[in-house]
Amino acid sequence: MQFDTTKINNMILNTGRDTNFSRAYIVEEKETRVREAFVEKLASILECEETDSALRPCGQCASCRQIAKGTSMDIVHMEMTGKNSYKTEDATEMMERLRLGSYGKHVIGIIDDADSLTEIIQNKLLKTLEEPERGVVIILGSSNKSRLLKTIQSRCITIRVRDYTEQYEDESAAEMLCEALETIMREESFFYEKRNVIAKNIKTRQDAEKLIGMLEDEYRYNMIHGTMREEMADMIDIAEEAVKDIKRGMDYSKALKRLILEIQ
Ligand SMILES: [Zn+2]
Repeated sequence: MQFDTTKINNMILNTGRDTNFSRAYIVEEKETRVREAFVEKLASILECEETDSALRPCGQCASCRQIAKGTSMDIVHMEMTGKNSYKTEDATEMMERLRLGSYGKHVIGIIDDADSLTEIIQNKLLKTLEEPERGVVIILGSSNKSRLLKTIQSRCITIRVRDYTEQYEDESAAEMLCEALETIMREESFFYEKRNVIAKNIKTRQDAEKLIGMLEDEYRYNMIHGTMREEMADMIDIAEEAVKDIKRGMDYSKALKRLILEIQ
């Protein structure tokens, strides 16, 4: 899933100017995986140290790298200690951490599955939203925001993930990228097979960059949710090297070839 980072950056800039608005977002999307990926992207953009907002997230600064590796001290997930629900203590713990302030640009409290918050917790949260402290950002992941209290909704900026997903001019371009991605990630494929599929499907530098971006997103997802964290971190480094190679002027097909050789 490729998100339109330009659009996300513009939204942050536009909504940030209104200082009366708390920095709180509802990220609305039914698919958990897509929603979580979007929240991570949003957090990276907010935290990225790159001065040119058009280039955020840069993927290279300390903040971006920490978020990608899941080690950022500024990202605070509300932990769910109840069986299928959040306990009041879970909210208290997150708020206390948020109050301590940020190491980087913001301290970001993330509540995925905010739909399952009890009314008591939502009211508690409301206090933080009404008196936002400097640098505190709260992101609520929701599959349907109508499940949240109206008072919460009115204090948050709602982002419908579908509105921020890159649209491809034609469907076949998206399909070609997906086919290339699947082939690269398939462990049992041989190098020459991968090379051929890529040569067939990736015809421009832009497509090569999109493909590497998608690959990185897959590795990040696996790193956070899977068991082979170190291996995935190495894969991300390899992908980032390929992006750098292309930016330095290396031919994209050569950079891709090197990439698939290294991740074999
Ligand atoms: Zn960055």
